[in-house]
Amino acid sequence: MAVTTRDGSAARIERDIEHLATAPYTRSSEAIRRYAYTPEYRNTLDWFTRELEQIGFTVSEDPLGTLVARNRPSGVPAFGIGSHCDSNRNGGKYDGTMGVVTALEVCRLAHEQELDLPLQLVSFLEEEGSGFGQMLLGSRIVAGRIDESDLRERFRAIDDGRSFWEHAEAAGYEPSRWRECAAVLDGLTGWIEMHIEQARVLQDTGNRIGIVTAIAGYVHADVVVHGRGDHAGATPMDLRLDPTLVLAETALELERLAREAGRGTVGTIGEVEVDPGLINAIASRVRFSLDIRGPEDDAYRDVAGKIATAAATSAEARGMHAEYVERQRLPATPMDEGIVGALERAAAATGEPYRRMHSGAAHDTMCVADRVPVAMVFVPCVDGISHHPAEDADPADAALAAEIILAAITSLL
Ligand SMILES: [Zn+2]
Repeated sequence: MAVTTRDGSAARIERDIEHLATAPYTRSSEAIRRYAYTPEYRNTLDWFTRELEQIGFTVSEDPLGTLVARNRPSGVPAFGIGSHCDSNRNGGKYDGTMGVVTALEVCRLAHEQELDLPLQLVSFLEEEGSGFGQMLLGSRIVAGRIDESDLRERFRAIDDGRSFWEHAEAAGYEPSRWRECAAVLDGLTGWIEMHIEQARVLQDTGNRIGIVTAIAGYVHADVVVHGRGDHAGATPMDLRLDPTLVLAETALELERLAREAGRGTVGTIGEVEVDPGLINAIASRVRFSLDIRGPEDDAYRDVAGKIATAAATSAEARGMHAEYVERQRLPATPMDEGIVGALERAAAATGEPYRRMHSGAAHDTMCVADRVPVAMVFVPCVDGISHHPAEDADPADAALAAEIILAAITSLL
């Protein structure tokens, strides 16, 4: 069988991505829009199934629709590769889908080169949360990070409010068997996910490949500051209890603390709610969110603790009161050094520019990591744009990633 060159791989990846960007694979012609239990999502799984069967893989789905393709019988050890092929509601062609298409390319190359590598491709259900507002849903189910009442009651469709359970049944799946989804990870000796970077680090440093060393953990919290609502014109400056000043001081302190912490720590105030929110009124109350992340738990969690104190101190100094309420925290996920090392050697052997980096964004790989040694490979995306129709990435970089992943897996087995 003729061996496909890197250019040939790039052409194949480009063809697949462009194909999946058309009807009947997206609900919108202006953006990529596909999510769990829609006909477009079904068509996409069917397309991957046909492509994988052509190269001798046996394709199945777990009881809720995560796609699993193997070139070995189930239960026999294999190396896992894949990502997700659902999109954000106003998504681009590359987030997730490029990772599954590149994993498919790894399978094709292994087949053509008669490498006899035991491989398992996975496309996780509902990573983006477009159907039910729940990110990483398929991989969280596989990892057992949810419970049955979430599926029966709590997780509801954005489109019609019906439960995840009802939608899964209507699509022909068997939600009552959700615990069996854990079998997706059975027998995996390792796992590599390729994904677009979703930031500008690779582009701005002139690298074609990012080898991920850790996925950031985070603390999500809210700060509510109680002031005193007054007339903006009639109230002299020294008679005010203005909670927006606590917001201002906390925002600057968050920047200072995150910079001081270093080690990849970032902090963001993304939501601001000013009550009553009128041009001629001093606010009575301000709420703002905190998103504090990093690849090293002690570093970013220390910032979260300090910013809670800083907000309280700033409010008190101005005669007000601030409450800090944590919404959620998730630890960082370190990648497996053995797989990272194999990827790095494979990348170095190509002579192409690469760098080690961490992922600030969450990925399905975080859930796979509960049971399997994992790693991730990033490729650049133009100007860091993702979750938008303007999303753009180079199939030639994905082809390079496929080559590196294949070489790394070969070296590990
Ligand atoms: Zn993604």
